[in-house]
Amino acid sequence: MSSKKVIIIGAGVGGMATAIRLNLLGYTVQVFEKNDYPGGKLSHFETNGYRFDAGPSLFTCPYLIEELFDLAKEPIASYFEYQKLELACKYFYDDGVCIQAYTNKDAFAAELQAKTNEPSENLYQYLNHASSAYNHIGLIFLRHSLHAIKTLFTAPIFKAIDRLKLAYLFKSLNDYNATAFKSPKLVQLFNRFATYNGSNPYKAPAMLSMIAHLEHNEGAFYPKGGMISITNALYRLAVKLGVQFTFGQSVQQIITENNQVKGVMVENEQLDAEIVVSNMDVYFTYKNLLQDATRAAKVKKQERSSSAFIFYWGMDKSFPTLDLHNIFFSTDYKAEFNALFNTGLPFEDPTVYVNITNKLEPGKHAPLGKENWFVMVNVPANTGQDWNALEQFYRQAIIHKLNKILGDNIEPYIEVSKLLSPVTIESRTASYMGSLYGTSSNSKMAAFMRHPNFSKKTSGLYFVGGSVHPGGGIPLCLSSAAIVSNLIQDKYHS
Ligand SMILES: Cc1cc2nc3c(=O)[nH]c(=O)nc-3n(C[C@H](O)[C@H](O)[C@H](O)COP(=O)(O)OP(=O)(O)OC[C@H]3O[C@@H](n4cnc5c(N)ncnc54)[C@H](O)[C@@H]3O)c2cc1C
Repeated sequence: MSSKKVIIIGAGVGGMATAIRLNLLGYTVQVFEKNDYPGGKLSHFETNGYRFDAGPSLFTCPYLIEELFDLAKEPIASYFEYQKLELACKYFYDDGVCIQAYTNKDAFAAELQAKTNEPSENLYQYLNHASSAYNHIGLIFLRHSLHAIKTLFTAPIFKAIDRLKLAYLFKSLNDYNATAFKSPKLVQLFNRFATYNGSNPYKAPAMLSMIAHLEHNEGAFYPKGGMISITNALYRLAVKLGVQFTFGQSVQQIITENNQVKGVMVENEQLDAEIVVSNMDVYFTYKNLLQDATRAAKVKKQERSSSAFIFYWGMDKSFPTLDLHNIFFSTDYKAEFNALFNTGLPFEDPTVYVNITNKLEPGKHAPLGKENWFVMVNVPANTGQDWNALEQFYRQAIIHKLNKILGDNIEPYIEVSKLLSPVTIESRTASYMGSLYGTSSNSKMAAFMRHPNFSKKTSGLYFVGGSVHPGGGIPLCLSSAAIVSNLIQDKYHS
């Protein structure tokens, strides 16, 4: 055991999971968070009787949370409860078709056959390939630093290469899906998984098809009380273990000497630490905390993931056709991604995501007979667009789309409205350009281009969270925390 001091910059999910793991390795861990609440993007708020999760809404891989409680030998049930969903998502198309994506494979296959005439065999084959890719290749990405030499010797890389289908490397996700399914509706449905890390399915590698494995082979889940329960559970566990949190204080600088981390500056005071882990966006870490313009510029060169407009609407009505997760697809997905990543122009028929936690806990997140709608459209990362004008544009585009598909006029039912924009995502969580998931995966080498979880220049400096390997959106960066803790264990304990 060690009594070395670790300072973690940021109490996002990645920061808290790292704090728990390093505390269990015997470190004295102190977390500085600029906001006065934990969770970063995974926070929530209440207004006029409605409760809204602010950021992430889809919960997969609960084992990544269970693992933390197992390591800590704490009973998870005293902190956190969750249930498996029967329906992963309801997909609405403009022509009136609605596909219910059941988590039970047989039910899903039967639904696809009934609604799109897709032979069930195509779904089974796709999900089998996704499972194999995830188990042989995906887990290497999620459990190991791709930038550490040790990975070459410890991870089952040769077996993975043997299993690697060339299509995963050389085809885009869209091209791969177009050969897997006959129905364009299903190509679009499975293309959507590229958006889970803010990428473009027409450019991102077919390897991302393994994301479908998580939802459709392993399952989609719902944390009792909403996504905020994940933040609350991690925070309570960390506090119980003795991690110290200081809220409302920004780290101003990471102090280094002779390529060795020495500590941080907070409120103009120097605090010493043998190890510093930054849960802050890696670009801002280099630019603001290390004043390293060269490295910041290198990170900046990589394409950012998409950002989002989120409208939090308190709806004075209940909509029985909707479920927890609902997607209203754009009629021209390719043009939508072209607008998102190439032209940057507003897109008038965007794909709309509506999340309603009150569906699973009626009366708990909205007054009875009403609903808490989290309404999200993907938009380009912030490059100084006129977001006030775009807010009105997207609000009208969303209302137009939902009215058409739901056959109702939803606007009069919106009795509460709040907004999260690329600008507020950036200011609240210091995420460069308001990107939801750091850099995009719009190239074949993107996974290798992501910033490593450690500094190659400064010993004792580590990075965790959405902007570094393995990236945001990959179940809440919890894998990233495990990689950082393993790197530290390897370096200081073996
Ligand atoms: C709208 C939205 C929807 C999403 N949907 C999903 C989803 O459905 N599923 C999924 O898996 N992921 C999703 N994501 C991504 C997910 O939210 C993140 O991957 C996850 O929350 C982990 O974030 P993080 O650890 O990188 O830290 P963040 O949440 O970005 O937290 C970083 C923390 O560092 C703090 N900080 C920054 N600078 C300093 C400083 N100098 N000093 C002190 N503190 C500082 C910030 O205030 C913040 O609290 C979504 C994100 C958003 C915004």
